[in-house]
Amino acid sequence: MLKTVGLERLGDENAFAVLARAAELQAEGRDIINLGIGQPDFRTPDHIVEAAIRALKDGHHGYTPALGIAPLRNAVVQDLHRRLNVDVNPDNVMIVPGGKVTMFFAISMFGEPGAEIICPDPAFPIYRSMIDYTGATAVPVPIREEAGFGFSADELLGLISPKTRLVIVNSPANPTGGVTPKGEIEKLVRGLADRPDIAILSDEIYGQMTYDGEEHASFLSYPEIRDRLILLDGWSKTYAMTGWRLGYGIWPDALIDDARKLAVNNHSCVNASAQYAGIAALEGPQDAARDMVAAFDERRIVISDRLNEIPGVSCIRPKGAFYAFPNISKTGWKSKALASALLEDAGVAVISGTDFGDFGEGYIRFSYANSVENIVRAVDRVGAFLADNQGSG
Ligand code: PLP
Repeated sequence: MLKTVGLERLGDENAFAVLARAAELQAEGRDIINLGIGQPDFRTPDHIVEAAIRALKDGHHGYTPALGIAPLRNAVVQDLHRRLNVDVNPDNVMIVPGGKVTMFFAISMFGEPGAEIICPDPAFPIYRSMIDYTGATAVPVPIREEAGFGFSADELLGLISPKTRLVIVNSPANPTGGVTPKGEIEKLVRGLADRPDIAILSDEIYGQMTYDGEEHASFLSYPEIRDRLILLDGWSKTYAMTGWRLGYGIWPDALIDDARKLAVNNHSCVNASAQYAGIAALEGPQDAARDMVAAFDERRIVISDRLNEIPGVSCIRPKGAFYAFPNISKTGWKSKALASALLEDAGVAVISGTDFGDFGEGYIRFSYANSVENIVRAVDRVGAFLADNQGSG
């Protein structure tokens, strides 16, 4: 018998399983509306695609430095300066194959049996999966609807113990669409200021998707924690580039060389043409990215208004990302059973709140990265299904 180590503790991302099941049902001829997977339904803007093609034609087909090509790392620095008015040294930037890689490396660096890692719940499932894999103990900080799905700094700080090694935060957030108010972020920064032994992983991959004039508050803005801050960002969501696998991390001086070594051992470098595409995305026209956010803005209003018309369902208006996270606890259904029934019986792919953590019970995640027409059809189907079917408990 083959003997592997620790893999029984590694979790999964159910959005991919739902995507596969939706494709299977479609192949059988079923009409499935997919509000499951979290990826923009727009194409990568043409000028970005062309930059990648040009790079290949120009002979950029070889290995690059493990940290990424210098012009891309400089473009990241300039973009952060332009957007957030922060100064970052290009030496602290590492280009990676997708935002997830920064998360994988950061959690691998700090997780071990006996260590505690604080993470939001509900949240992107890979945080928890990776924490469990390292043998560390995950300490969930509940993300509450009453707080607009932002985290509470006091609650998070109250969970810190002598064993805490890493704190993970995510705003704007998956799966809730919540945006944590700047005041809470400042309170958390103050609370962590005298704990240089605790690293912070701030996942800001949805940082450019906020609505209602809400400004993105970045952890990069606080010099007092920069020596322990790992920032996760990337191109997947902002520029509709999920399949390109392109992301970046900003690492503190103390960790950047270890991050580089992990990259060298794992993937060597990101494919060269994607890196040139990344430069075009950051330095080229931003109107396609802006138009995409404007379309999400319109859809978020349609989806939250329509969901609120369904008896037993209530949905606060999301302030960021492209997810709605309605409360379905008054329908009589449990989240997992409802998500599964909606896919199998109503032809609507959504994700159970419990796929993002125990505190996701009572909620369903809808990705509104789909047309208004499909969103309306999907929510109508959900309403009709709930009118016809009693909850299972
Ligand atoms: N972080 C969050 C909160 C996400 O929702 C996702 C993707 O859904 C990622 C990170 C990973 O992004 P990427 O596809 O660039 O690896």
